[in-house]
Amino acid sequence: HAKGAGRNNYQFFDQRMNQAAARRFALESSLRGALANEEFELHYQPIIDTATRRLHALEVLLRWRRGGRDGGGVLVGPDEFIPILEENGMIVAVGEWVIRSACEQSMAWQALGLAAVPLAINLSARQFMHDGLVASIRRIVGATGIDPSLVEFELTETALMQHGGRTLDILRQINGMGMRLSIDDFGTGYSSLAYLKRFPVRKIKIDRAFVRELEASSEDRAIVAAVMALANSLQLSVVAEGVETEGQYELLRGHGCQFAQGYLFARPLPAAEAARLLVSSVLDAIDG
Ligand code: C2E
Ligand code: MG
Ligand code: MG
Ligand code: MG
Repeated sequence: HAKGAGRNNYQFFDQRMNQAAARRFALESSLRGALANEEFELHYQPIIDTATRRLHALEVLLRWRRGGRDGGGVLVGPDEFIPILEENGMIVAVGEWVIRSACEQSMAWQALGLAAVPLAINLSARQFMHDGLVASIRRIVGATGIDPSLVEFELTETALMQHGGRTLDILRQINGMGMRLSIDDFGTGYSSLAYLKRFPVRKIKIDRAFVRELEASSEDRAIVAAVMALANSLQLSVVAEGVETEGQYELLRGHGCQFAQGYLFARPLPAAEAARLLVSSVLDAIDG
């Protein structure tokens, strides 16, 4: 009897595995055409300066409008498809599309007279390891005419640690073009901090995992205080991710955190809505 039940469990497990594999296969095959079909789009989430509560930068976040474009189809978030792109290598082409499209968007906004706000662009591990990265960034800067100081790349600790000796070289080349680098999801990856003094990094982003329970957890407050102390002594600026409440915001400000990002201020916005924020920051500048 017990044996029979065990076998049923296996069959159930098997079926679920097959469903997951089938779903992934379907996702992967429709992803293959997504770039050519122009199904990717960029959303922009404000990063604000905690001293003034004004816009400091926009993080560029990729979305996939599966099965349609221009508002059709279903919007899929990056956690669902970036791992697949990483695995099949498509992230290199899609990542290049992200960098180019973000730079084009920035230039289009500037041509309209909107505020030139820095864009923070995510780079994945595989993209960072790809030999053509630096050349492709250089091409995009040349083709779009973007001011490199308006571009900042976000890399996770894990991505930085996978590339061995070449990492520093690539970071220096990107930095040498005038672009900035920040560490994304700080505190969730590699456990050595030695890289912070070796790499030309200006900014760290404290992961949402440490912000979420900041009000209730004295441990998380201790971690944030330690990260702030470390950042101050290494002259790094700090962005807190995933700020959702005024309470979290006040605590972070109290710890001297310079920048914050989260639903409290704004969700990731489609380009047209992000442009409206840039309009109001132009008005702010005229008023002030
Ligand atoms: P990330 O770079 O850490 O981006 C922050 C994520 O947190 C975004 O999720 C954002 O929507 C979400 N977030 C921001 N504020 C809040 C908040 O207050 N509460 C909560 N619950 N979430 C918040 P998203 O857009 O789903 O992106 C997930 C991850 O996908 C990103 O994490 C990044 O690692 C990756 N990603 C996004 N776009 C790209 C891209 O163009 N290239 C690469 N390589 N990775 C990307
Ligand atoms: Mg990021
Ligand atoms: Mg992050
Ligand atoms: Mg994160």
